[in-house]
Amino acid sequence: MVRKTTNGMSDWFGFFDSSTFGDGSCLFVAGMGNTCVFETNDGLVVFDLPIKQYGLKTFREIRKKTDKPVKYFLYSHGHFDHAFAFQPFIDEVKSKGWNMPQVIAHENCIKRFEKYRMLDKYHNWINQMQFTSVGGKGQENLVSAHDTLDPTIILKGNDAKYFFELGNVNFEVYHDKGETDDSIWLWVPEKETICTGDLMVSSFPNVGNPYKVQRYPKDWAIAMEKMMEKDAKYLVPGHGQLIKGKEKVRDVLSITAEAMHFVHDEVVKRLNEGKWFEQIYHEMIEIFPDKFKTHPILRPMYGCYRFAIHASHRLYHGWYNTGNPTDLFPSKSEDIAKELLKLNDEKAYLNHAKNLFNGGKLQLALHILDIVIKGAESNHRETLLEALDLKYQILKQKVKEESSFIAANIIDNARYQIKNRIKELKK
Ligand SMILES: [Zn+2]
Repeated sequence: MVRKTTNGMSDWFGFFDSSTFGDGSCLFVAGMGNTCVFETNDGLVVFDLPIKQYGLKTFREIRKKTDKPVKYFLYSHGHFDHAFAFQPFIDEVKSKGWNMPQVIAHENCIKRFEKYRMLDKYHNWINQMQFTSVGGKGQENLVSAHDTLDPTIILKGNDAKYFFELGNVNFEVYHDKGETDDSIWLWVPEKETICTGDLMVSSFPNVGNPYKVQRYPKDWAIAMEKMMEKDAKYLVPGHGQLIKGKEKVRDVLSITAEAMHFVHDEVVKRLNEGKWFEQIYHEMIEIFPDKFKTHPILRPMYGCYRFAIHASHRLYHGWYNTGNPTDLFPSKSEDIAKELLKLNDEKAYLNHAKNLFNGGKLQLALHILDIVIKGAESNHRETLLEALDLKYQILKQKVKEESSFIAANIIDNARYQIKNRIKELKK
């Protein structure tokens, strides 16, 4: 089942036709994520390789257009959807006796691959949750980093850049942090084209993914501004359709930079005012400007502003984020719930949750329901079933209303777990 393919997610997954652009020597291959191929007289430069499951499709799309050998692969970053569809290309190199292509990436990409190998099972687990609606759940090995095509040309340090030429076409590779610390982006002046990787994903930047490590809103803004200086005519995003036209390219880069500066600077301002996260978060929701809310490139389709607030806060602050010492070394939530149930019985909480639900206060209803679900004795089967069933209904409604694919999947995954628990209890 593929849910949430409307509202741009089908583009995000690359369910649209590949196309050539510019003088016809540039090929945009739609995928998860996108690939961009530059055909020169001396061979091909290939920016990004999608998830391994898209390998053959990507290979065939390229071979429909040209049979020239690949001379360079570039990894915008080492995520599973940008550096793993290499196998068909390597098989071809071997069968034709060609030289192995160079692979260009930032040094942090190598560290990333090492980290993936250490945390292989963990990453599989969190990615199954993040992509639960697109079959993530059913796949044993959704992703795995045990086979990588390792970089051979490595950009080092924070101001890293690398320029090369192939078949009289110049390629300029720059490093900037943003979604990751190993991002590189490509500027091809003769083709007036920028390849951004996930620094542009046709959605609000994925800057505060709840499952993933720290990301970099301020650096993201700076990367956008550096790209703007190039005055590109074409922008190849990591996900979604090709962005065409100097004005359009400038507009998407500039509004993204502005949004990243905004979220970062407003969080920093509030940290300096001595505010704790809860206050910062709710104030930030209040002040989110309409120009960001309504801009198509900032739709909260994958990442979202709410996550970005967390990312900006986490850049500078540790895990103690309430200012309330009760939360410093808290008791188990089950024990707290059990104590609350001593003050009032399960039915009272359950009825209150129902009233909140009927009044449209879904989030508050969840908090109250959790007291019953966590605190009720396990033999209080009927009450538990009723509470779980209401939680299931609330989550179902929340998924429907949720714009962010990631947030919707987090909620939906929990909904499946509740469904299973209900089944178990009914046995
Ligand atoms: Zn991606």
